Amino acid sequence: MDFIKGFDRNQLIMMDFEANVDHDSWARIVDWFVDALPMSELGFNDVLQSEGRPPYKASDLLKLFMYGYKKDLRTSRKLEAACKVNIEVIWLLKGLQPSARKIAYFRKNNPKAFKQSFRYFVMMLKEMNLISGETIAIDSFKIRAQNSLKNNFNQNKIDRHLEYIDGKIAEYEKQLDVDDDREDDHKEELEDKIKWQKEKKEYYKSIEKELQDSGETQISKTDPDAKSVILHRNIVNVGYNIQAGCDGKHKLFINNDTGTVNDTHALANMALDAKELLGVDKINCLTDKGYTTGVHIDTCTKNNITTFSSPKAHSSQDNGLCNMNEFIYDEKNDTYTCPAKHVLNTNGNICKKRKHRVKRYYTKACNGCQLREKCTKNKKGRFIERSIYQEALEENEKRVKQNPEYYRLRQQITEHQFGTLKRQWGFTFTLMKGKENVLSEVNLMMMCYNLRRLMSIMGTNTLKHWLRCLCLIFNHIFKPIKLDLSNFFNLKKEIDTNIFKLLRSLNLSI
Ligand code: SF4
Repeated sequence: MDFIKGFDRNQLIMMDFEANVDHDSWARIVDWFVDALPMSELGFNDVLQSEGRPPYKASDLLKLFMYGYKKDLRTSRKLEAACKVNIEVIWLLKGLQPSARKIAYFRKNNPKAFKQSFRYFVMMLKEMNLISGETIAIDSFKIRAQNSLKNNFNQNKIDRHLEYIDGKIAEYEKQLDVDDDREDDHKEELEDKIKWQKEKKEYYKSIEKELQDSGETQISKTDPDAKSVILHRNIVNVGYNIQAGCDGKHKLFINNDTGTVNDTHALANMALDAKELLGVDKINCLTDKGYTTGVHIDTCTKNNITTFSSPKAHSSQDNGLCNMNEFIYDEKNDTYTCPAKHVLNTNGNICKKRKHRVKRYYTKACNGCQLREKCTKNKKGRFIERSIYQEALEENEKRVKQNPEYYRLRQQITEHQFGTLKRQWGFTFTLMKGKENVLSEVNLMMMCYNLRRLMSIMGTNTLKHWLRCLCLIFNHIFKPIKLDLSNFFNLKKEIDTNIFKLLRSLNLSI
């Protein structure tokens, strides 16, 4: 009996890379998928120059990224190393070994092409009925940015720094006065310290000016697009809040965006974008409480998007006074009736209160009302503010209450994908700076996720057939047509009339 032994290192071995890559390996799926993409039409620069060193094909580098993003190999250095030591990557790139710099530049220089590729993929999925476009759910997740918390400032933080510096300068100056008779060395040291603090003060003053000029509430020095966000419970860090739309049929990603710190003003943009991309006349949209904003729900309603967004409690519900629910609204007369059965009228003017546009309702009956103590602390009596979007909000609330089971689908449709991206694939931080480049990473991640999900939905063999057919048909039908993707939605007509009819006719069991 002996231990299991490896091979003899000195033995010459004939090795076939093809045999070393599993039949259903991720590398093979990525290979077929990228070969089926119309690379130059999607915006990848695949032009050969007459002089200089030949470039790498964009499809090879995209394959490398799609392989790496699924396998938690995201940095250009890790990908460079993988090209030398990882058998699957060597097979995928046919032995090419691009430098880390080449790899990094490809990602940095192609943000629009990554976005187009993801959207093209989503359109393919829609045409193949893998995305239904009936119900979508929108939610967000946070990732850390390439910007430390130390390099993120708001007015309060700047004020704190300036106050500390002023205190320090005063302290050193006081010491200088007291130690007037002491040796020169000590005086010199204190003067240096004062000079250093004054330089720091200048620095913070310049940041303050930059912040005021930007009109924003915070400023990040390393990555100007990154914002201070709450990552988890009370943990604050500088990062991005990534919006993600998912389709209800197979829980596939359909679109993404970033920019806002929270979800309050993200609903309409995301829902309208999804509706336009999927080319549907109407769509249902499920979101949590964070997205419930009157103006957005109203915009969605006007654009044939039916929202099911968890209603927010009225702010007056926690203050111990008469609850807003006790005031009955009369739609016909545009009045409220209060608990003491008095009518509150409005003069019809629309006031702007912070970012909200509201109408105010009053009654003179508050003076001498027996319920006044319980109803208001305002000397002028109780008044009610009604958002001009209240009707849309109430309709939304009614829909959520009438369809609790349907609303509960939201969590099933969106949240588990974030766990896969963050916990399994390590997407808890971005390597890039700037919104556009960060979205390149998000698009890559979402393409990988959708492709991996297709492996589960269709089975590896059917997916391979599908991608092979797509590749063949694209190369033999689309290439001679010379598609112009500059107007992206012209593509849809071409797809309808050509590629997907042929694919459907192949009767693949999807
Ligand atoms: S205080 Fe005014 S609004 Fe409140 S119950 Fe009395 S009359 Fe009605």
